[in-house]
Amino acid sequence: MKQYFVQTFGCQMNVHDSRRIEEVLRASGYREASEPALADLLLVNTCSVREKAEHKLMSLLGTFRPFKEAQRGTILAVTGCVAQQEGERLLRKAPFVDIVLGPDNIPELPALIRQVEHGAPPITRTVFDMDDPQFLRAKPHADRREVTAYVTVMKGCDERCTFCIVPYTRGSERYRPADQIVGEIRDLVQGGVREVTLLGQTVNSWHEPGADAEASKSESRLAASTSRFAGLLRRIAEEVPDLWRLRYTSPHPRHITAELVAAHADLRVLPSHVHLPVQSGSDRLLRRMARRYTAEEYIARTDALKQAKPGLTLSADFIVGFPGESDEDFEQTLELVRRVGFVAAFAFKYSPRPYTPALKLGDEVSEEVKDDRLARLFALVETQQQAHLRSLVGQNVQVLVEGPSPGDTGRFAGRSERNEIVHLIAPEGHDPTGELVTVTIDEPFRHSLSGYMTGAEGLVDRGPRMRLSVLGAGGAV
Ligand code: SF4
Repeated sequence: MKQYFVQTFGCQMNVHDSRRIEEVLRASGYREASEPALADLLLVNTCSVREKAEHKLMSLLGTFRPFKEAQRGTILAVTGCVAQQEGERLLRKAPFVDIVLGPDNIPELPALIRQVEHGAPPITRTVFDMDDPQFLRAKPHADRREVTAYVTVMKGCDERCTFCIVPYTRGSERYRPADQIVGEIRDLVQGGVREVTLLGQTVNSWHEPGADAEASKSESRLAASTSRFAGLLRRIAEEVPDLWRLRYTSPHPRHITAELVAAHADLRVLPSHVHLPVQSGSDRLLRRMARRYTAEEYIARTDALKQAKPGLTLSADFIVGFPGESDEDFEQTLELVRRVGFVAAFAFKYSPRPYTPALKLGDEVSEEVKDDRLARLFALVETQQQAHLRSLVGQNVQVLVEGPSPGDTGRFAGRSERNEIVHLIAPEGHDPTGELVTVTIDEPFRHSLSGYMTGAEGLVDRGPRMRLSVLGAGGAV
């Protein structure tokens, strides 16, 4: 049986795309290789949001090249945003690559592999599928015991933030019908999944395809609300009652509507954490970035979410050193971090990306200043994170257990309702994977929590063995 090895860079959308690639490959007879040297197909799923990710691709291609040269017939493929952005140019930079494939063309991979096997020259296929039949369904991996899954609800982005290459590499927004989304989640839950994360570049701009026109024609508030993102969340909660947690990423602050805030207040299935990218706390920079909200509006929306769900925590994405960012702008970002009380952050130094409007802004911030600002931002968020994690010691949290902790620790790991990673000790002989358990926190680590299991709330139906073991655990804890 032929083997594949997939290396993924970038965001959760890319991680999800890699899962689709693996499904497509398994369906055409491949199995996963334990290391690249054993693979008949080496595939790099790329990210182009930052320059560094592109450098990583070129360096990895250099690492993979000898495997291809050592074994006749090994195929080297590149997909993801760099493939979409560079197309033929990538083949000129790395002529030993066999296939360059855009994210919308993943289903064509087996056919392209066959063409290469029959001696075709290197192939580039980077066509956006605007009619979009390609929202492939996620299926639980047959060999893995998975309780969490991603479900794509929309693709592309119409926002045009001036620093971002995504609208160029992923195209305009396309939305998936609610019936398809609900059907996929129902199937996943039947297969044992208990937490779903809805995915989209601006996930909360989702609306039922074609619903805009319908809503304005009928002027029906109900039609508008059920066909919008908050309506989708309510429908999933109602129609898939065995789903325990429903997350979404990444929302755009512009689309945090009153209906979405109300959904957080009403729906137990929505956990107490939202990752809401902000990028900067300076209105001047937010305008230069074309983010289309002010710091005050962002704060008002996060306040509303916190009010709707007491205990809700927030994390965000930031860019430091955007062209023209002054000390004062950066101080405003730190002020926003304090005001919102973020407990985690993904922060990056600005790097110019091809084809983006920010290229023309000039006024570069030096690398030294960017490094300093990044370090200060991380230090502040880490202080807040530590205070938050310490505040949880002695408290009970609900953890959906995803499997053993990395390394041979004898512990299990999962995420709390606020998305903290929790390493827990289960009763001896009991594997709580797939269960929603109560954990009493006894210690904060640097970015996670430690605790011991004190109760089991629910379990995934995985047959009699699991049921018996849980009943046993119930008596023991
Ligand atoms: S919202 Fe802005 S940052 Fe996010 S994908 Fe769209 S253009 Fe890029």
